[in-house]
Amino acid sequence: MAKVQTDRRDFVKYSTLGVLGLVLGGGIIFSPYTLRAENRLRPPGAMPEKEFLALCIKCGQCLQVCPYHSIELADMAMGHGEGTPYIDANVRACYACEAVPCVLACPSGALDHSCEKAEDIKMGIAVLEFPDTCLAMSNTPVPKGYNDKMHKFIDGVRHINPLEDQLLEKFDKYEGEQCTLCADMCPIPNPMGAIAMVPDANGGNKPEIYDGCIGCGACQEVCPTSKPSIVVKPRVTYDEYYTNKS
Ligand code: SF4
Ligand code: SF4
Ligand code: SF4
Repeated sequence: MAKVQTDRRDFVKYSTLGVLGLVLGGGIIFSPYTLRAENRLRPPGAMPEKEFLALCIKCGQCLQVCPYHSIELADMAMGHGEGTPYIDANVRACYACEAVPCVLACPSGALDHSCEKAEDIKMGIAVLEFPDTCLAMSNTPVPKGYNDKMHKFIDGVRHINPLEDQLLEKFDKYEGEQCTLCADMCPIPNPMGAIAMVPDANGGNKPEIYDGCIGCGACQEVCPTSKPSIVVKPRVTYDEYYTNKS
């Protein structure tokens, strides 16, 4: 008898957990924990996370129009928000198209149509997270093979857009040079307002971030260190990270 009760308790416990898992997996509950756990870079114009998850109809229109193949749809393994679009800047960042076609293509309002041009994009903020590994700060030239990852990505793309070829051409010229890749590859119309190489205390240079950064993640993608020295903090503003920090 005791065994049956234990089994029943276990059944109730595990089926409850199972249902909870399914609910969370489907993105139905927006607990503060779930939203905090969500740390994905969303496409340009994305509404605040809770609204974004409620509005996105998972149609994939945004990723179909992206010329850089920047947008992916989350799969089940990624937890909640299955089928919603995100950008993995370690793989392919956003390159801030002037007319922001991903936003234009969004039929649901999950990507806010008031984001009309590259300067309107606010996805997050770049941070030199690992200064100890930054090549510029140790005067280490960009090593051979630094561009393998981007070539591999392009090789896997079925229909390469000419813009991707131009990007690769620009990126391919840095072997043996002092690293300025994050600053040079910043795609916004006024990159000097977002990032610049400045002298550091040890006689090297370091990237410095300014309030024009839109958090597109290009600097993270092109950083040649094995774990990018510079990363984007999704949904964090310049003021939140830099101004209010000190
Ligand atoms: S702005 Fe351009 S590169 Fe960035 S996600 Fe939208 S379509 Fe892709
Ligand atoms: S500094 Fe980095 S994240 Fe910011 S706009 Fe430039 S490339 Fe994008
Ligand atoms: S891309 Fe920027 S952050 Fe990365 S190693 Fe080069 S200078 Fe440093």
